[in-house]
Amino acid sequence: MRIYTVGGYSEVGKNMTVIDFGKDAIMLDAGLYLPPIVALQERDKCTTEKGLRNIHAIPDDTSLDALGIRNKLRAIIVGHAHLDHVGAIPYIAHRYNAEIIATPFTAEVLKTLVSECPIEFKNPIKAIQPNSSYRVNGAQNINIEFINITHSTPQTSLIAIRSNQGNVLYANDFKFDNSPQLGKKPNYEAIKKISKEGVKALIVESIYAAEERKTPSEKVARDLLEDVMLTVDNKGAGIVVTTFSSHIARLKSIVEFGRKLNRKVVFIGRSLNKYVSAAMKAKICPFSKQIMLVSYTRQVDSIMKRIEHERDKYLIVCTGHQGEPGSVLDRISRNEMSFKLSPKDHVIFSSRTIPTEVNIENKEQLDKRLKQRGVRIFNEVHVSGHAGREDLRDFINMVKPEHIIPAHGDLTKLSALAELSTELGYKVGKNCHISQDLQSIEL
Ligand SMILES: [Zn+2]
Repeated sequence: MRIYTVGGYSEVGKNMTVIDFGKDAIMLDAGLYLPPIVALQERDKCTTEKGLRNIHAIPDDTSLDALGIRNKLRAIIVGHAHLDHVGAIPYIAHRYNAEIIATPFTAEVLKTLVSECPIEFKNPIKAIQPNSSYRVNGAQNINIEFINITHSTPQTSLIAIRSNQGNVLYANDFKFDNSPQLGKKPNYEAIKKISKEGVKALIVESIYAAEERKTPSEKVARDLLEDVMLTVDNKGAGIVVTTFSSHIARLKSIVEFGRKLNRKVVFIGRSLNKYVSAAMKAKICPFSKQIMLVSYTRQVDSIMKRIEHERDKYLIVCTGHQGEPGSVLDRISRNEMSFKLSPKDHVIFSSRTIPTEVNIENKEQLDKRLKQRGVRIFNEVHVSGHAGREDLRDFINMVKPEHIIPAHGDLTKLSALAELSTELGYKVGKNCHISQDLQSIEL
């Protein structure tokens, strides 16, 4: 088999890996590289396939056309619903006679992304539950298993690929959370099973390979939220919480504490609406009956007016944790909404600023405006969804792959995972492969 590391091997984003088995090929993930798009949206330009290729915001899959991959690509398999894994599919899938395979939540998110994209979309979307298997349509016997794993969005799966040329395990992204707040624990049994069968190649994320730690459970984020929301005096104060819209487990904790405060929980913002609706359709949204979900301008206006007069009766959950221009929190901070922040109010960031230039600048500007309003700011009420170095060590020891391919990072991050691999007895260039965007490895 030949493994093409198309995207996400020279940056954090636009993940795409293609495996060529001879007669058939499969694609793992097709994601967006967000920083150039965030900059683009500020200038209000539309996003077309050509436009996205020009700014290198989607992986360059066209580089594989001359190799004959395009005609034998049978399936695009997506591990989870984050945009840097699923977001390019609406723009590139039309080029392939391939079905899309994803868990139900990811499939619902993808359907929304497709509906927002002007490109005609004909590829069938096959939704497969976590911890189940599927045979890819093709000449060769290629079997896919979605192994349930924990991350910061629901139904994230490791993708186990079984073929007559050996097994591949794709672990991009994940963490080991033994106390998940939504969904099941990692399926260690399935990981051990494929390890026993033999894993020829492990493709594994390297984002936090340099961070010497075990990433804390989502239970810890819940405790942090509990402290801020239930033990800090907020009598008479407005409370605004913002977090990643696709983090349904985090939203669940926020809703529960909002209800403990006897406040009505209102979700405001288009992207919250998108992901929470997808969770409802996939039947994994535990709080669907406990929230008001508003996204249309008129609805937003009327609820904001009500909250302005009864600020301590409501909990606002909104978009804008990265300071995105035009997001709900951005507009609140600019006094553009009927709800006006006043000095006693709380603004809680259940998030971490993703360290790109655009985000850091946006968040700084947002903080400046919030401070002018005199509100109390609670930053980083958050834990990461990515495996730390010690999780990665345990994982590699558990899988015992023949070859390791570090993924999802620039050269520094890939090298950190390669260094860990050498600690575990692997040799770079022999059975640990640093492969950057548009390179490939023959195994
Ligand atoms: Zn992710």
